[in-house]
Amino acid sequence: MMRILLLGGTTEASRLAMALAEADLEAVFSYAGRTARPIAQPLPLRVGGFGGAEGLAGYLQSEGITHVIDATHPFAAQMSANAVYACDLAGVDLCALERPAWQAQAGDDWRHVDSLAEAAAALPDAGARVFLAIGKQNLAAFAGKPENHYLLRLVDPPEAALPLPDTSVEIARGPFDAAGDRALMQAHGITHVVSKNAGGSGAAAKVEAARDLGLPVIMIARPEVPQRRVLATVAEVMSWLRGGAHHEVAPAAERGV
Ligand code: NAP
Repeated sequence: MMRILLLGGTTEASRLAMALAEADLEAVFSYAGRTARPIAQPLPLRVGGFGGAEGLAGYLQSEGITHVIDATHPFAAQMSANAVYACDLAGVDLCALERPAWQAQAGDDWRHVDSLAEAAAALPDAGARVFLAIGKQNLAAFAGKPENHYLLRLVDPPEAALPLPDTSVEIARGPFDAAGDRALMQAHGITHVVSKNAGGSGAAAKVEAARDLGLPVIMIARPEVPQRRVLATVAEVMSWLRGGAHHEVAPAAERGV
């Protein structure tokens, strides 16, 4: 019998959960547990890490999982690598639901970097007003540039002291739209945007707004993940599950440059 593990945490994962539930497929949805109030899902839920690749392999076996769909964020590289190794160990089919990286278009002023540290280095030393929409876990990378002002957008209000001294905090959960992000950036007098190359539509608003406002975007390329089957849409994943599509294993994730 088919039993699916869906690794979530993205808008696309929620869309796929809906499709799996509508198709009446047996599936479990997994969250890392990073947010206080995760979005409800139409599937049975489990929350928290598995204990590395070996822990995940054990879970797959004990739960009788036959298919894993990795619909985590393109920057959740540890989870994605663990899924590849665990499925290999447990002999379970794996595919990733991954949106293509954004590409710069006319009007964009992108500065390409490969890491958070490089993104911080690309900012002025002082006086910039930076929209830092990269999640709470990555803020410390910017602690070496304390003389800039940082506008943070977080899902939950911060519980601990922030590693940056001069911030405004916006509590909001995507998807966002370009008009709203343009207004937000204007209200805060933003001069620079730092963005992970997430791809997809849910987080693209800040990049579109930066284009409209003629602001530079420090664009962080995606981390490498091991080779796995990559599908781009919910429909392709459903067809893969039904065994109707024979997709080649795609090369390691395209770098978002
Ligand atoms: P990560 O660094 O790749 O993963 C760190 C550890 O968190 C994993 O080794 C695993 O723990 C656990 N984990 C991650 N995703 C999980 C899931 N869906 N279910 C169960 N355990 C999970 O991941 P991350 O970047 O911290 O991302 C965590 C979650 O936030 C993911 O669901 C991701 O989709 C979402 N997210 C991330 C970003 C981002 O920029 N990184 C942005 C938006 C949403 P064990 O090793 O113990 O199994």
